Amino acid sequence: MAWLLIGVLLLALGGEDEAIRLNNEGVELLKAKKPAEAVAVFERALKLSPDQSRIRGNLVSALMDDAVVALNASRPGDAEPRARRARELAPEDGHVAHVLGTALYRLEKREEAEAELKRAVKRDPGNGQAQDLLGTLLYQKEDLAGAIAAWEEALKLSPKDEALRERLDKARREREVEKDFIQSDTGHFRVRFDVSAPRRPQVVQGVMDLLEDAYNVVGAEFGDFPPGPFTVILYNRSEFEGVTGTHGWVGGLFDGKIRLPVGDGTAGKLDLRQTVLHEYTHALVHRLAPRCPAWLNEGLAQLLEGRSEAESLATLRRAKPDELTPVADLPSSFARVPGRDQVTLLYAQSHAFTAHLARTWSRRTLVETLRAMGKSADVAEAFRKAAGADLADAEKNWKATLR
Ligand SMILES: [Zn+2]
Repeated sequence: MAWLLIGVLLLALGGEDEAIRLNNEGVELLKAKKPAEAVAVFERALKLSPDQSRIRGNLVSALMDDAVVALNASRPGDAEPRARRARELAPEDGHVAHVLGTALYRLEKREEAEAELKRAVKRDPGNGQAQDLLGTLLYQKEDLAGAIAAWEEALKLSPKDEALRERLDKARREREVEKDFIQSDTGHFRVRFDVSAPRRPQVVQGVMDLLEDAYNVVGAEFGDFPPGPFTVILYNRSEFEGVTGTHGWVGGLFDGKIRLPVGDGTAGKLDLRQTVLHEYTHALVHRLAPRCPAWLNEGLAQLLEGRSEAESLATLRRAKPDELTPVADLPSSFARVPGRDQVTLLYAQSHAFTAHLARTWSRRTLVETLRAMGKSADVAEAFRKAAGADLADAEKNWKATLR
């Protein structure tokens, strides 16, 4: 039987050589920034030599590189299986937990994402990005205390990150204002409000009805009926301005949550219906095209709230149409534009141009534009795909009608 044993031994040695050769090949592929090919090669190497920790480590690196490439290209669905495989091989690795948590978060698998991100910051408390994303996730699920704690850690690590500081300050203001708020769920909305405010319970029921109505009306326009829940927070006027930092004329806000100033609900029922339609439109636009430019986002919201186009056109004609800024050059958000006249003009331009596009093509074409845009910000290319037309030409034609 001795010859058989020697044969097995030789075979084993041959496998080891091949594993080493494949490992070296994989390392070269990694250096050449070809992580997907490196993964395949390291997998073969590991099969031949399952106990080699060096091959295992290299495979994890390749899987991570490939997952990060997929995440950067907005393909979280491709990143997830890579990160899960890495997780099998390196269950204690904080970086793997961070990448897997990020992919799961982008795929809206919130609970699993939370567990992975918590694991990531536990293994590696110095990972500011993981702390920041964990804060965002907790903030979105209304765990303000958890969000504040995570963002405080993140800010310690990058004290110069102004956007992060703003998020943290806002969450602290919200916690202060909302400490006595309670929560009530409709089918698709989670509504938070102060139960002790006068007449608030009746107002809340009215708002809930308006929200469910908007869910159906706007959902039908978009062909999108997500399960939710969307968070909606009701404030009185001064709370609203304190939390959002907006001006007195702002009727509502969507910043990931729908925020509405409702007072005691004795006035402005019609306005409230329009505001709810408007803000819920923003919520759906955000789902389909998170980087949608402000003009199209505000244009659609005004279209669906049923704002009078004649009014917007009158505003534009007063402002010399030839001097309008091309939509491609408008600011990416109108929230920080100072001066009410300036803001009114931006809204009127967004509304009237979007209404023109909807009339010339169709509202469905505009929704298709959002879908074509997806995670990218190139509205002109998306519009060309959806409408088969040039957006700049459409704008030129529209301006000619204003004279
Ligand atoms: Zn708006």
